[in-house]
Amino acid sequence: MPDNPFRSLPKVSDMLDLPAVVEARTRHPHAAVADAVRTEIDHLRSLIQSGQSLDGHADPAALTSRILARLEASAAPQLRPVLNATGIVLHTNLGRSPLHESAATAAYQAARGYLNLEMSLDTGKRSSRQNPIRDGVRRITGAEAATAVNNCAAATVIVLRALAAGKEVVVSRGQLIEIGGSFRIPDIMAVSGATLREVGTTNITRIADYERAIGPNTGLLMRVHTSNYRVRGFTEAAGIDELVELGKKHGIPVVDDAGSGAAVDLTPFGLPGEPVVSEGIRAGADVVLFSGDKLLGGPQAGIIAGKKLLIERIEKDPLMRAFRLDKMTLAALEATLLLYRDPAKAVREVPTLRMLTTPLVELRERCEGFAGRLRALPLLSVQVLDDVAYVGGGSLPDVAVPTVVIAVTLKNLSEEAFAAKLRTGSPAVVARVNDGRVLFDLRCVFAEQEDELFAAIGAALGEPAA
Ligand SMILES: *Cc1c(COP(=O)(O)O)cnc(C)c1O
Repeated sequence: MPDNPFRSLPKVSDMLDLPAVVEARTRHPHAAVADAVRTEIDHLRSLIQSGQSLDGHADPAALTSRILARLEASAAPQLRPVLNATGIVLHTNLGRSPLHESAATAAYQAARGYLNLEMSLDTGKRSSRQNPIRDGVRRITGAEAATAVNNCAAATVIVLRALAAGKEVVVSRGQLIEIGGSFRIPDIMAVSGATLREVGTTNITRIADYERAIGPNTGLLMRVHTSNYRVRGFTEAAGIDELVELGKKHGIPVVDDAGSGAAVDLTPFGLPGEPVVSEGIRAGADVVLFSGDKLLGGPQAGIIAGKKLLIERIEKDPLMRAFRLDKMTLAALEATLLLYRDPAKAVREVPTLRMLTTPLVELRERCEGFAGRLRALPLLSVQVLDDVAYVGGGSLPDVAVPTVVIAVTLKNLSEEAFAAKLRTGSPAVVARVNDGRVLFDLRCVFAEQEDELFAAIGAALGEPAA
């Protein structure tokens, strides 16, 4: 090593003149190439700083291959398709609901051209961008009127602000939830300008507790669905019908934050405990809120359904402009809602519902078939096992959905290393790691993706893609 090891660092100009780098400059902008070269030199410098020698790192072949890899990575989008082998249908980190083909197509067409977003083609006059989704939301909720914003968190803020700013909102202590990503009911309340009036206790809140809290400044009674946790044991919560009756008696509107928002009853499929969005409206709630991309299976949105006068007040709130949906989301949401014209068809076709309701026998059959293919690969042992999965996305927190998984153990690779190779491969695969094994649940892997999954596993094992 020379006296000053930093002298051995290659120079930017020399690296730019390496033949492969010169060639790369025909395909990548100069700034990107220079950036990749500089990043590479920084990397070498940090190796020296940590006391390592550059042996091997600084030879031209190794340098160029790393520079080219950096360039390719910088040219590729960071958002990439993922094969979801976790079995978690509403995986927030993987984008929650995948859209139905018709919804994805609607978003694509809206994206790449013009559309009648705020124009009535009959009259040529300006119209509301909410119009196309109103009918569909009315159909699934039974509500008089409807609108939608960017997500259910935004829906909560705008509803509280439009209907209760400067007033008190009565909520049970058992429902002061945090949804994740710092969505806490008390904080949302503060942001909206309404004052939280907590009543009852964590496990017991009776209707009398709400009634005692009602005063001249009460603006709303609110029920929040405890989507992502359950209070068990000695518990009691006032029902939405009781809240509605109390609200009527005192002339106070009732808001139901239903959260996950199932449009069809999933109980027959062994998925109990999620409110069906029409129930709140049927019980007489004035406003019901729910997410577009949880159990509805549509794009990210916060849907607000309820009494016409209240929806009008919400739409007049200045935040409506800030929270409004973009054209792609509106198009996808309208298309998703259209699928619910036939609820039985929606269960079969909306990907989220189809995956949640896949019969166990069908999953087992697919797993057995796929396991058979994997067994032909060397250096791994493959088993098909019964397991449980969760719905995710803050829905059905205590419902362990029976499922079937393919458990893979590797002879020469740790399960963590295998999972990392799968994640960073192309396509990326996210599986579960448990107890020394990598578990593949095919529930959220579409049938037409099985070949891709097989090839990705082969690639992660260092096998040529089959
Ligand atoms: C998920 C959820 C929210 C937040 O919905 P986003 O669409 O994720 O913003 C709000 N309230 C309840 C009860 C929820 O379950």
